[in-house]
Amino acid sequence: MTQTYDVLIIGSGAAGQSLALRLAEHQRVALVTKRTLEDSASSWAQGGIAAVLDATDSIEEHIHDTLLAGAGLCDERVTRFVVENGHRAIEWLIHLGVPFTREAGTSTGYHLTREGGHSHRRIIHAADATGAAMQRALTDQVRAHPRIDVFERHIGLDLVMADKVDGSAEGCLGAYVFDIERDHVVTIAARNTVLATGGTGKVYLYTTNPDVATGDGVAMAWRAGCRVANMEFIQFHPTCLYHPQVKSFLITEAVRGEGGVLRLPDGTRFMPDHDERAELAPRDIVARAIDFEMKKRGLDCVYLDISHKPADWLREHFPTIHARCLELGIDITKDPIPVVPAAHYSCGGVVTDLSARTDLPGLYCIGETAYTGLHGANRLASNSLLECVVFAEAAAHDILNSEREFPPPLPKWDESRVTDADEEVVISHNWDELRRFMWDYVGIVRTTKRLQRAQHRIRLLTREIHDYYSNFRVSNDLIELRNLVVTADLIVRCAMRRRESRGLHYSHDYPETLQRVRPTILKPRR
Ligand SMILES: Cc1cc2nc3c(=O)[nH]c(=O)nc-3n(C[C@H](O)[C@H](O)[C@H](O)COP(=O)(O)OP(=O)(O)OC[C@H]3O[C@@H](n4cnc5c(N)ncnc54)[C@H](O)[C@@H]3O)c2cc1C
Repeated sequence: MTQTYDVLIIGSGAAGQSLALRLAEHQRVALVTKRTLEDSASSWAQGGIAAVLDATDSIEEHIHDTLLAGAGLCDERVTRFVVENGHRAIEWLIHLGVPFTREAGTSTGYHLTREGGHSHRRIIHAADATGAAMQRALTDQVRAHPRIDVFERHIGLDLVMADKVDGSAEGCLGAYVFDIERDHVVTIAARNTVLATGGTGKVYLYTTNPDVATGDGVAMAWRAGCRVANMEFIQFHPTCLYHPQVKSFLITEAVRGEGGVLRLPDGTRFMPDHDERAELAPRDIVARAIDFEMKKRGLDCVYLDISHKPADWLREHFPTIHARCLELGIDITKDPIPVVPAAHYSCGGVVTDLSARTDLPGLYCIGETAYTGLHGANRLASNSLLECVVFAEAAAHDILNSEREFPPPLPKWDESRVTDADEEVVISHNWDELRRFMWDYVGIVRTTKRLQRAQHRIRLLTREIHDYYSNFRVSNDLIELRNLVVTADLIVRCAMRRRESRGLHYSHDYPETLQRVRPTILKPRR
């Protein structure tokens, strides 16, 4: 049976939940999410949210820092839009009850921290677990809201497009959604549909992202006919905890912002040899420097040392990191922290405008899934949560003014020609293979030859996964793998088009930065 709503939102991170709350005062919302409401990259954010809050800071300086990090590729209009709306976004979160860390005697009443690439202290935070505090505040209100229906353990599978239903140009009419627990596909129709599925980190072997970050929204939008841009710009976080018992635990940028230094195993500090800003250089420079030192010396990791700070101060400012490391036998008040770079953030995504509209009527995209133009070739730390909240508001405004009709009855998901999968191992094998070669061939430093190798393997995998998908019933893992391979393909295609090194994209074959500055925009074949 088709269920019909005013708005269908796929994804329950900071972007999806902010939007749901803003819409639900006026419209009925279906919020679909793969696992639980809280399970998202947003919950894992440690550092905080960048915004101009202090009287000594300015909009122009935040814009300047963002443009500088973006290496010429930020859209200035979008950057101004986000930065100018920053203060309001933070006020909205405070009003919602997010418990940001306070500091008496400051002009704001809040403690603001500083991160790499920022010329001011402008990161508002809730100790070192900002995302968790924010998600809690959002989730509490979403769960309690009578006009939001939450579908947990439901994974968006594909968008339902009008041209496939009745040949019209009405755009997006909703989505097919796989109910993971009941093992069947439901149809959700909506006047407007929003993709807020987060990032793509799981396309790489090492990532700071949660398991849900499999590029689903980008893949769904691409299959539906949306343009996708700048997928070559993957931010590798320089400092992910390196420990055999831990999959992805990030050591926030703020540790370097507060004086943490990077050392080789023999204690030598190396960042000053790579950049005059040393540990406060932007992430891409720090990640490449660590990659360089590790490859040159055959190291498994390097060390981030903040043990020179007072122990009480460290426990107060970095309670989560302190506790997690201590569980593993690392006392950050005394010991340096072993770290490696890992895939962290996708600057590219589905092309959207200032109202979060995609190329297709009735389809919006917000948060990390979207390419708004804010991040350019490199994201400035803590600008992404800000982008989530600002564009959630922009999308809400546009959707509430939309006059789209309710869709006609939608066709059911057709399972008549498929059977139960015979060999699940095909999925896990292909998943591992994809993530390994993306790490080896499409990682921090790229070459044309490596990209070609990756492309060749992606073609083989695409064929195999397509055959599997056409013949067998869908499952959560198959849906994710199908999306991961599309995402990997888009990353490689964008990387091959960029014949220069800029921001996060570094190619040995094209080390120069060109004068001409252009985003990489891919258009699907219709
Ligand atoms: C460890 C870590 C630390 C970070 N620290 C900061 C920071 O300090 N400051 C900052 O600004 N940014 C930070 N970032 C980046 C920031 O957290 C993300 O960019 C941001 O949270 C993205 O929000 P989102 O709502 O777009 O996606 P997410 O928060 O990832 O949410 C995506 C949601 O979509 C769901 N989903 C995905 N696919 C489907 C599907 N097919 N069907 C249904 N549901 C689906 C997921 O389950 C999830 O609920 C950090 C990221 C990480 C990983």
